[in-house]
Amino acid sequence: MAKLNEVSGIKEMYHNVQDDWSNMRIFRTEADMRAYRAELPERTRIGFVPTMGGLHDGHLELIRMCKCESDITIVSIFVNPAQFAPGEDLFKYPRTEPQDLNQCKVMGVDVVFIPSVEHVYPNGYGTWLKVDVGEPSRNPNSEGASRPTFFSGVATVVIKLLHVVTPTVLYAGQKDAQQCAVLRAIINDLWFDIKLVIVPTRRESDGLAMSSRNGYLKPFEREHATIVFRCLNMVVNSVYSGENNANNLRRKMRYFFEVEWDRPSGIDFVLLYVSICEQYTMLEVQENLPTGVPVMACIAARLGSARLIDNVVLPKTTG
Ligand code: AMP
Repeated sequence: MAKLNEVSGIKEMYHNVQDDWSNMRIFRTEADMRAYRAELPERTRIGFVPTMGGLHDGHLELIRMCKCESDITIVSIFVNPAQFAPGEDLFKYPRTEPQDLNQCKVMGVDVVFIPSVEHVYPNGYGTWLKVDVGEPSRNPNSEGASRPTFFSGVATVVIKLLHVVTPTVLYAGQKDAQQCAVLRAIINDLWFDIKLVIVPTRRESDGLAMSSRNGYLKPFEREHATIVFRCLNMVVNSVYSGENNANNLRRKMRYFFEVEWDRPSGIDFVLLYVSICEQYTMLEVQENLPTGVPVMACIAARLGSARLIDNVVLPKTTG
């Protein structure tokens, strides 16, 4: 009997916790989001985590960090059609709103902002941001070159969200390092008074960077998806062993996929680009790795129907 009482006591506690969870607010319009924001005391530290939903542990890492450092944590969920080119995976991109909202509740998120596509881009919408740092002219081996409208779509929606949420701190993942460079450029160039925090890439136990798109991988493809991470490790080891020339590093990366990898027959793998570029400007490094500015190795590849991207910041060199 005593045991049953204990159990019902636990249930009671659990029930109360659930009541707390229901404090999470969900806004679907700019007006509601703005009205809530306007009510917050002036010095409230507001952390903002923009996402496209399909939340996984990588997103949760951002939310966790945001929660630790903020008075109020705001997460947005919006699958942004403007950053998908025709023929990309816009229509099959995971949309898991009920699960995402539950995850946010469990994490103690204060507000989830989920505007609809029609609300963000009403009929006749026509204002798009262009950010030079994401342009293919800056780096022909980049997301901007591989997905021509991508960065304009990202920049436009992020600006809209920042205007409404007006956060103190914006959280973004190193997994999308080039996107981070674009966010940094927007904040600096447009004088946003917002701090950008980059959260390290969260990986599966075998090294694959977590991504909402990993769900597209068939089991056989998933087994081999670590090839991208393995190549990045190879680059890091090369730099540690004294290789300092960006051309050589790019060559080694291509060689790794084309020759060193014992590619399983029947696997549908296409290397889209490799890049050795400055982390903040995304400028492709031409010869020796510069000292004093962080440089990263980036890879994009298609495996089956999944587009995989990953990157690593290279160890410092002495020039
Ligand atoms: P997405 O929903 O893919 O647009 O991602 C939303 C935010 O989560 C972006 O800032 C991403 O860089 C970040 N993110 C996605 N995957 C990861 C990961 N594996 N580790 C860390 N951050 C991530």
